Amino acid sequence: MSGTHRQPEVNIGLVGHVDHGKTTLVQALSGEWTDQHSEEMKRGISIRLGYADATFRKCPECDDTEAFTVEETCPEHDVETDVLRTVSFVDAPGHETLMATMLSGAAIMDGAVLVVSATEDVPQAQTEEHLMALDIIGIENIVIAQNKVDLVDAERARDNYEQIQEFVEGTVAEGAPVVPISAQQDVNTDVLIETVEREIPTPERDPDADPLLHCARSFDINRPGTTWEDLLGGVVGGSLVRGRFEPEDEIEIKPGREVEEGGQTEYRPIETSIRSLQAGGTSVDEVSPGGLLGVGTGLDPALTKGDALAGQLAGAPGSLPPVWDSFTMSVDLLDRVVGDDMTEVEPINTGEPLMLTVGTATTVGAVTSARDGECEVNLKRPVCSETGAKIAINRRVGARWRLIGVGTLDG
Ligand code: GDP
Ligand code: MG
Repeated sequence: MSGTHRQPEVNIGLVGHVDHGKTTLVQALSGEWTDQHSEEMKRGISIRLGYADATFRKCPECDDTEAFTVEETCPEHDVETDVLRTVSFVDAPGHETLMATMLSGAAIMDGAVLVVSATEDVPQAQTEEHLMALDIIGIENIVIAQNKVDLVDAERARDNYEQIQEFVEGTVAEGAPVVPISAQQDVNTDVLIETVEREIPTPERDPDADPLLHCARSFDINRPGTTWEDLLGGVVGGSLVRGRFEPEDEIEIKPGREVEEGGQTEYRPIETSIRSLQAGGTSVDEVSPGGLLGVGTGLDPALTKGDALAGQLAGAPGSLPPVWDSFTMSVDLLDRVVGDDMTEVEPINTGEPLMLTVGTATTVGAVTSARDGECEVNLKRPVCSETGAKIAINRRVGARWRLIGVGTLDG
Protein backbone atom coordinates (compact mmCIF):
# COMPACT_ATOMS: atom_id res chain seq x y z
CA MET A 1 0.00 0.00 0.00
CA SER A 2 1.41 3.36 -0.94
CA GLY A 3 2.05 5.54 2.07
CA THR A 4 1.06 8.78 0.41
CA HIS A 5 -2.60 7.72 0.18
CA ARG A 6 -3.41 6.77 3.72
CA GLN A 7 -5.73 8.62 5.98
CA PRO A 8 -3.91 10.13 8.94
CA GLU A 9 -5.10 8.60 12.21
CA VAL A 10 -3.69 10.88 14.88
CA ASN A 11 -2.99 14.61 15.31
CA ILE A 12 0.37 15.61 16.67
CA GLY A 13 0.85 19.21 17.73
CA LEU A 14 4.11 21.07 17.26
CA VAL A 15 4.40 23.57 20.07
CA GLY A 16 7.07 25.79 21.57
CA HIS A 17 8.72 29.18 21.34
CA VAL A 18 8.98 31.10 18.07
CA ASP A 19 12.02 30.20 15.94
CA HIS A 20 12.86 27.05 17.86
CA GLY A 21 12.25 25.01 14.72
CA LYS A 22 8.67 23.67 14.74
CA THR A 23 7.96 24.37 11.09
CA THR A 24 11.41 23.10 10.07
CA LEU A 25 10.74 19.85 11.94
CA VAL A 26 7.38 19.41 10.25
CA GLN A 27 9.12 19.91 6.95
CA ALA A 28 11.81 17.37 7.79
CA LEU A 29 9.13 14.77 8.52
CA SER A 30 6.50 15.61 5.93
CA GLY A 31 8.38 17.36 3.14
CA GLU A 32 5.97 20.28 3.39
CA TRP A 33 6.58 23.83 4.49
CA THR A 34 3.44 24.81 6.38
CA ASP A 35 3.94 28.59 6.32
CA GLN A 36 1.83 29.13 3.21
CA HIS A 37 0.19 32.41 3.86
CA SER A 38 1.81 35.42 2.17
CA GLU A 39 2.13 37.26 5.47
CA GLU A 40 3.87 34.21 6.95
CA MET A 41 6.35 34.09 4.07
CA LYS A 42 7.05 37.79 4.47
CA ARG A 43 7.55 37.72 8.22
CA GLY A 44 9.13 34.28 8.35
CA ILE A 45 6.85 33.10 11.15
CA SER A 46 3.80 30.87 11.35
CA ILE A 47 0.59 32.80 11.86
CA ARG A 48 -2.19 30.32 11.21
CA LEU A 49 -2.36 26.71 12.21
CA GLY A 50 -0.27 24.76 9.73
CA TYR A 51 -1.15 21.27 8.55
CA ALA A 52 0.92 18.54 7.04
CA ASP A 53 0.74 14.76 6.96
CA ALA A 54 3.60 12.32 7.23
CA THR A 55 3.77 8.55 7.06
CA PHE A 56 6.08 6.92 9.56
CA ARG A 57 7.77 3.80 8.25
CA LYS A 58 10.17 1.12 9.26
CA CYS A 59 12.86 -0.56 7.22
CA PRO A 60 12.55 -4.34 7.52
CA GLU A 61 16.31 -4.76 7.29
CA CYS A 62 17.74 -1.95 9.44
CA ASP A 63 18.46 -2.68 13.09
CA ASP A 64 16.66 -1.08 16.02
CA THR A 65 16.15 2.66 16.00
CA GLU A 66 17.81 3.17 12.62
CA ALA A 67 14.87 1.40 11.00
CA PHE A 68 12.51 4.34 11.69
CA THR A 69 12.10 6.70 8.75
CA VAL A 70 9.75 8.66 6.51
CA GLU A 71 11.50 7.41 3.34
CA GLU A 72 9.58 4.97 1.15
CA THR A 73 12.80 3.25 0.19
CA CYS A 74 15.57 2.62 2.69
CA PRO A 75 18.67 4.38 1.37
CA GLU A 76 20.84 1.84 3.16
CA HIS A 77 19.29 -1.39 1.94
CA ASP A 78 17.36 -0.22 -1.13
CA VAL A 79 14.22 -2.02 0.01
CA GLU A 80 10.70 -0.71 0.41
CA THR A 81 9.94 0.32 3.98
CA ASP A 82 6.84 -0.86 5.89
CA VAL A 83 4.16 1.62 6.85
CA LEU A 84 3.62 2.16 10.56
CA ARG A 85 0.96 4.87 10.44
CA THR A 86 0.14 8.22 8.91
CA VAL A 87 -0.01 11.21 11.24
CA SER A 88 -1.19 14.80 10.86
CA PHE A 89 0.90 17.60 12.26
CA VAL A 90 -0.76 20.67 13.69
CA ASP A 91 1.94 23.33 13.55
CA ALA A 92 1.13 25.99 16.13
CA PRO A 93 2.46 29.52 15.82
CA GLY A 94 4.98 30.31 18.56
CA HIS A 95 4.66 34.05 18.64
CA GLU A 96 3.23 35.47 21.85
CA THR A 97 0.45 37.39 20.12
CA LEU A 98 -0.84 34.16 18.59
CA MET A 99 -1.64 32.28 21.77
CA ALA A 100 -5.35 32.07 20.87
CA THR A 101 -4.44 30.24 17.68
CA MET A 102 -2.21 27.85 19.57
CA LEU A 103 -4.98 27.16 22.07
CA SER A 104 -7.57 26.45 19.39
CA GLY A 105 -5.11 24.05 17.75
CA ALA A 106 -4.54 22.30 21.04
CA ALA A 107 -8.19 21.24 21.05
CA ILE A 108 -7.52 18.80 18.22
CA MET A 109 -4.07 17.58 19.31
CA ASP A 110 -3.88 13.99 20.53
CA GLY A 111 -0.33 14.51 21.70
CA ALA A 112 2.42 17.04 21.15
CA VAL A 113 6.07 17.51 20.38
CA LEU A 114 7.45 20.40 22.42
CA VAL A 115 10.31 21.87 20.42
CA VAL A 116 12.99 23.53 22.54
CA SER A 117 16.06 25.14 20.98
CA ALA A 118 19.37 24.11 22.53
CA THR A 119 20.77 27.54 21.72
CA GLU A 120 18.70 29.46 24.28
CA ASP A 121 18.09 29.30 27.99
CA VAL A 122 15.09 27.26 29.13
CA PRO A 123 12.29 28.16 29.35
CA GLN A 124 11.63 30.87 26.81
CA ALA A 125 8.23 32.55 27.28
CA GLN A 126 6.16 30.47 24.85
CA THR A 127 7.94 27.25 25.78
CA GLU A 128 6.37 27.72 29.18
CA GLU A 129 3.08 29.12 27.96
CA HIS A 130 2.50 26.35 25.41
CA LEU A 131 3.36 23.64 27.92
CA MET A 132 0.89 25.14 30.38
CA ALA A 133 -1.74 25.20 27.63
CA LEU A 134 -1.18 21.48 26.99
CA ASP A 135 -1.55 20.88 30.70
CA ILE A 136 -4.80 22.85 30.90
CA ILE A 137 -6.35 21.20 27.87
CA GLY A 138 -5.27 17.80 29.13
CA ILE A 139 -2.74 16.72 26.51
CA GLU A 140 -0.54 14.30 28.35
CA ASN A 141 1.35 12.45 25.65
CA ILE A 142 4.33 14.70 25.10
CA VAL A 143 7.72 14.25 23.48
CA ILE A 144 10.33 16.97 23.87
CA ALA A 145 12.56 17.65 20.87
CA GLN A 146 15.75 19.42 21.89
CA ASN A 147 16.44 21.06 18.55
CA LYS A 148 19.40 22.79 16.87
CA VAL A 149 21.97 20.58 18.56
CA ASP A 150 24.12 21.16 15.45
CA LEU A 151 24.68 24.72 16.69
CA VAL A 152 26.01 23.94 20.17
CA ASP A 153 28.94 21.99 21.57
CA ALA A 154 28.48 18.89 23.72
CA GLU A 155 28.76 20.76 27.00
CA ARG A 156 26.19 23.39 26.07
CA ALA A 157 23.87 20.62 24.83
CA ARG A 158 24.17 18.82 28.17
CA ASP A 159 23.51 22.00 30.17
CA ASN A 160 20.50 22.76 28.06
CA TYR A 161 19.26 19.18 28.46
CA GLU A 162 19.46 19.55 32.23
CA GLN A 163 17.63 22.87 32.08
CA ILE A 164 14.84 21.16 30.16
CA GLN A 165 14.59 18.37 32.74
CA GLU A 166 14.44 20.88 35.56
CA PHE A 167 11.87 23.00 33.80
CA VAL A 168 9.40 20.14 33.16
CA GLU A 169 9.56 18.87 36.73
CA GLY A 170 6.11 19.14 38.26
CA THR A 171 4.44 19.82 34.90
CA VAL A 172 2.43 17.53 32.62
CA ALA A 173 5.68 16.88 30.72
CA GLU A 174 7.53 15.53 33.73
CA GLY A 175 9.19 12.31 32.67
CA ALA A 176 8.58 12.98 28.98
CA PRO A 177 11.47 11.77 26.81
CA VAL A 178 13.85 14.46 25.54
CA VAL A 179 15.28 13.69 22.11
CA PRO A 180 18.22 15.79 20.89
CA ILE A 181 17.76 16.53 17.18
CA SER A 182 18.67 18.84 14.38
CA ALA A 183 15.54 19.35 12.33
CA GLN A 184 17.52 21.23 9.71
CA GLN A 185 20.35 18.70 9.38
CA ASP A 186 18.09 15.65 9.77
CA VAL A 187 19.99 14.41 12.82
CA ASN A 188 18.25 11.84 15.05
CA THR A 189 14.91 11.97 13.23
CA ASP A 190 14.82 8.18 13.50
CA VAL A 191 14.95 8.39 17.30
CA LEU A 192 12.26 11.05 17.29
CA ILE A 193 9.93 8.94 15.12
CA GLU A 194 10.50 5.88 17.31
CA THR A 195 9.76 7.95 20.41
CA VAL A 196 6.59 9.48 18.97
CA GLU A 197 5.40 6.01 17.93
CA ARG A 198 5.84 4.86 21.49
CA GLU A 199 4.61 7.91 23.40
CA ILE A 200 1.75 9.24 21.29
CA PRO A 201 -0.61 6.35 20.53
CA THR A 202 -3.60 6.69 18.23
CA PRO A 203 -6.60 7.30 20.51
CA GLU A 204 -9.60 5.02 20.32
CA ARG A 205 -12.46 6.64 18.51
CA ASP A 206 -15.91 5.43 17.61
CA PRO A 207 -16.40 5.22 13.83
CA ASP A 208 -20.04 4.13 14.28
CA ALA A 209 -21.20 7.14 16.31
CA ASP A 210 -22.79 10.25 14.77
CA PRO A 211 -19.99 12.08 12.97
CA LEU A 212 -18.47 15.12 14.68
CA LEU A 213 -15.92 17.36 13.00
CA HIS A 214 -14.02 20.10 14.82
CA CYS A 215 -13.44 22.81 12.22
CA ALA A 216 -10.01 24.35 12.71
CA ARG A 217 -9.75 26.17 9.37
CA SER A 218 -11.99 27.08 6.44
CA PHE A 219 -11.13 28.22 2.97
CA ASP A 220 -12.21 29.55 -0.37
CA ILE A 221 -10.04 27.50 -2.72
CA ASN A 222 -11.03 29.31 -5.92
CA ARG A 223 -8.54 31.49 -7.73
CA PRO A 224 -9.54 35.12 -8.10
CA GLY A 225 -11.55 35.60 -11.28
CA THR A 226 -13.03 32.09 -11.39
CA THR A 227 -16.34 32.17 -13.26
CA TRP A 228 -19.39 30.89 -11.48
CA GLU A 229 -19.64 27.70 -13.58
CA ASP A 230 -16.21 26.67 -12.32
CA LEU A 231 -16.60 27.91 -8.79
CA LEU A 232 -15.93 25.24 -6.17
CA GLY A 233 -17.88 25.21 -2.91
CA GLY A 234 -16.40 26.26 0.41
CA VAL A 235 -13.99 23.94 2.19
CA VAL A 236 -13.70 23.29 5.91
CA GLY A 237 -10.63 21.67 7.42
CA GLY A 238 -10.48 19.93 10.73
CA SER A 239 -10.52 16.73 12.64
CA LEU A 240 -13.25 14.10 12.68
CA VAL A 241 -13.31 12.94 16.29
CA ARG A 242 -15.94 10.25 15.74
CA GLY A 243 -18.16 8.76 13.05
CA ARG A 244 -17.66 8.67 9.29
CA PHE A 245 -18.22 11.03 6.39
CA GLU A 246 -18.91 10.13 2.78
CA PRO A 247 -19.51 12.35 -0.24
CA GLU A 248 -23.23 13.26 -0.60
CA ASP A 249 -23.74 13.15 3.18
CA GLU A 250 -25.91 15.95 4.48
CA ILE A 251 -24.19 17.95 7.19
CA GLU A 252 -25.04 20.71 9.58
CA ILE A 253 -22.55 23.30 10.79
CA LYS A 254 -23.13 25.15 14.07
CA PRO A 255 -23.30 27.85 15.41
CA GLY A 256 -23.45 28.63 11.67
CA ARG A 257 -23.68 31.98 9.98
CA GLU A 258 -24.28 35.39 11.44
CA VAL A 259 -27.54 36.89 10.22
CA GLU A 260 -28.60 40.48 10.79
CA GLU A 261 -32.25 41.28 10.95
CA GLY A 262 -33.84 44.48 12.17
CA GLY A 263 -30.70 45.54 14.04
CA GLN A 264 -30.42 42.12 15.77
CA THR A 265 -27.69 39.66 14.98
CA GLU A 266 -28.09 35.96 15.49
CA TYR A 267 -26.43 32.77 14.36
CA ARG A 268 -28.28 30.25 12.23
CA PRO A 269 -27.09 26.70 11.61
CA ILE A 270 -25.87 26.02 8.10
CA GLU A 271 -27.01 22.95 6.21
CA THR A 272 -25.16 21.66 3.21
CA SER A 273 -23.89 18.46 1.68
CA ILE A 274 -20.44 17.01 1.26
CA ARG A 275 -19.09 17.27 -2.29
CA SER A 276 -15.59 15.92 -1.76
CA LEU A 277 -13.26 14.65 0.93
CA GLN A 278 -9.52 15.11 1.15
CA ALA A 279 -7.33 13.10 3.48
CA GLY A 280 -3.67 12.22 3.41
CA GLY A 281 -3.16 14.54 0.44
CA THR A 282 -5.68 12.88 -1.84
CA SER A 283 -9.42 12.61 -2.59
CA VAL A 284 -11.10 9.80 -0.74
CA ASP A 285 -14.57 8.19 -0.78
CA GLU A 286 -14.88 7.82 2.94
CA VAL A 287 -13.19 9.18 6.02
CA SER A 288 -13.15 7.64 9.45
CA PRO A 289 -12.08 9.42 12.64
CA GLY A 290 -8.47 10.45 12.94
CA GLY A 291 -6.16 13.12 11.65
CA LEU A 292 -6.83 16.22 9.65
CA LEU A 293 -9.06 16.29 6.63
CA GLY A 294 -10.62 18.71 4.20
CA VAL A 295 -14.36 18.64 3.51
CA GLY A 296 -15.55 20.19 0.25
CA THR A 297 -19.12 21.43 0.62
CA GLY A 298 -21.86 22.95 -1.48
CA LEU A 299 -21.52 26.23 0.40
CA ASP A 300 -20.93 29.62 -1.14
CA PRO A 301 -17.16 30.00 -0.68
CA ALA A 302 -17.74 33.50 0.70
CA LEU A 303 -19.04 31.73 3.84
CA THR A 304 -15.85 29.72 4.36
CA LYS A 305 -13.27 32.26 3.25
CA GLY A 306 -10.43 33.20 5.58
CA ASP A 307 -11.19 30.74 8.40
CA ALA A 308 -14.70 32.19 8.82
CA LEU A 309 -15.99 28.82 10.07
CA ALA A 310 -12.99 27.96 12.24
CA GLY A 311 -14.15 26.96 15.71
CA GLN A 312 -17.49 25.54 14.57
CA LEU A 313 -18.70 21.95 14.68
CA ALA A 314 -19.98 19.94 11.73
CA GLY A 315 -21.94 16.71 11.85
CA ALA A 316 -25.15 14.94 10.91
CA PRO A 317 -28.15 17.30 10.96
CA GLY A 318 -29.87 17.30 14.33
CA SER A 319 -27.02 15.51 16.09
CA LEU A 320 -24.78 18.39 17.10
CA PRO A 321 -24.40 19.58 20.69
CA PRO A 322 -26.09 22.78 21.88
CA VAL A 323 -25.12 26.31 20.89
CA TRP A 324 -24.39 28.59 23.82
CA ASP A 325 -24.78 32.38 23.91
CA SER A 326 -23.99 32.29 27.60
CA PHE A 327 -23.02 29.56 30.01
CA THR A 328 -21.92 28.76 33.51
CA MET A 329 -18.50 27.25 33.96
CA SER A 330 -16.68 25.91 36.95
CA VAL A 331 -13.32 27.55 37.21
CA ASP A 332 -9.95 26.38 38.38
CA LEU A 333 -7.52 29.30 38.49
CA LEU A 334 -3.75 29.02 38.39
CA ASP A 335 -1.73 30.62 41.17
CA ARG A 336 0.26 32.83 38.83
CA VAL A 337 -0.30 34.30 35.39
CA VAL A 338 1.42 32.07 32.83
CA GLY A 339 4.44 33.80 31.35
CA ASP A 340 4.35 36.49 33.99
CA ASP A 341 5.49 34.91 37.24
CA MET A 342 5.29 38.20 39.09
CA THR A 343 1.53 38.48 38.77
CA GLU A 344 -0.75 36.49 41.03
CA VAL A 345 -4.05 35.41 39.53
CA GLU A 346 -6.76 37.45 41.25
CA PRO A 347 -10.29 36.03 41.42
CA ILE A 348 -12.49 36.63 38.38
CA ASN A 349 -14.62 39.77 38.67
CA THR A 350 -18.14 40.42 37.51
CA GLY A 351 -17.99 42.61 34.41
CA GLU A 352 -14.51 41.66 33.27
CA PRO A 353 -13.92 40.33 29.76
CA LEU A 354 -12.31 36.92 29.36
CA MET A 355 -10.99 35.27 26.24
CA LEU A 356 -12.23 31.71 26.18
CA THR A 357 -11.13 28.81 24.01
CA VAL A 358 -13.83 26.16 23.78
CA GLY A 359 -12.80 23.33 21.47
CA THR A 360 -11.31 25.04 18.44
CA ALA A 361 -13.47 28.15 19.03
CA THR A 362 -12.17 31.36 20.50
CA THR A 363 -14.62 33.87 21.86
CA VAL A 364 -14.73 36.74 24.29
CA GLY A 365 -17.11 36.49 27.20
CA ALA A 366 -18.22 39.16 29.63
CA VAL A 367 -18.54 37.84 33.16
CA THR A 368 -22.08 38.43 34.39
CA SER A 369 -21.66 36.74 37.74
CA ALA A 370 -18.64 35.37 39.56
CA ARG A 371 -18.63 33.20 42.65
CA ASP A 372 -15.99 31.07 44.20
CA GLY A 373 -14.98 28.45 41.65
CA GLU A 374 -17.76 29.28 39.23
CA CYS A 375 -18.77 32.05 36.86
CA GLU A 376 -21.33 32.94 34.24
CA VAL A 377 -20.33 34.52 30.97
CA ASN A 378 -22.17 36.20 28.13
CA LEU A 379 -20.44 35.39 24.87
CA LYS A 380 -19.75 37.87 22.11
CA ARG A 381 -19.89 35.02 19.61
CA PRO A 382 -21.76 31.83 20.51
CA VAL A 383 -20.04 28.44 20.58
CA CYS A 384 -21.30 24.94 19.85
CA SER A 385 -20.07 22.53 22.47
CA GLU A 386 -20.92 19.57 24.64
CA THR A 387 -21.25 20.21 28.36
CA GLY A 388 -18.18 19.11 30.26
CA ALA A 389 -15.85 20.61 27.63
CA LYS A 390 -12.60 22.09 28.90
CA ILE A 391 -12.18 25.82 28.45
CA ALA A 392 -8.89 27.70 28.46
CA ILE A 393 -9.46 31.00 30.30
CA ASN A 394 -7.40 34.06 29.40
CA ARG A 395 -7.47 37.47 31.03
CA ARG A 396 -6.12 40.74 29.70
CA VAL A 397 -2.93 41.52 31.60
CA GLY A 398 -1.22 44.64 30.32
CA ALA A 399 -1.32 44.62 26.54
CA ARG A 400 -2.22 40.98 25.94
CA TRP A 401 -4.35 38.01 26.89
CA ARG A 402 -2.73 35.62 29.31
CA LEU A 403 -3.70 32.17 30.41
CA ILE A 404 -5.05 32.23 33.96
CA GLY A 405 -6.92 28.98 34.35
CA VAL A 406 -9.18 26.27 33.10
CA GLY A 407 -12.95 26.05 33.08
CA THR A 408 -15.46 23.27 32.54
CA LEU A 409 -18.69 24.03 30.70
CA ASP A 410 -21.47 23.20 33.15
CA GLY A 411 -24.48 24.42 31.20
P1 GDP B 1 9.33 27.97 14.32
O1 GDP B 1 9.05 29.43 14.56
O2 GDP B 1 9.45 27.22 15.61
O3 GDP B 1 8.38 27.33 13.36
O4 GDP B 1 10.82 27.90 13.68
P2 GDP B 1 11.26 27.65 12.18
O5 GDP B 1 11.07 26.22 11.82
O6 GDP B 1 10.62 28.67 11.30
O7 GDP B 1 12.83 27.86 12.31
C1 GDP B 1 13.42 29.08 12.69
C2 GDP B 1 14.81 29.18 12.14
O8 GDP B 1 15.67 28.21 12.75
C3 GDP B 1 14.91 28.93 10.64
O9 GDP B 1 15.83 29.83 10.09
C4 GDP B 1 15.42 27.50 10.55
O10 GDP B 1 16.14 27.25 9.37
C5 GDP B 1 16.30 27.41 11.77
N1 GDP B 1 16.41 26.03 12.28
C6 GDP B 1 15.40 25.20 12.60
N2 GDP B 1 15.86 24.02 13.04
C7 GDP B 1 17.21 24.10 13.01
C8 GDP B 1 18.26 23.19 13.34
O11 GDP B 1 18.05 22.06 13.78
N3 GDP B 1 19.54 23.66 13.18
C9 GDP B 1 19.81 24.90 12.70
N4 GDP B 1 21.08 25.25 12.56
N5 GDP B 1 18.84 25.76 12.38
C10 GDP B 1 17.56 25.39 12.52
MG1 MG C 1 6.64 28.02 12.55
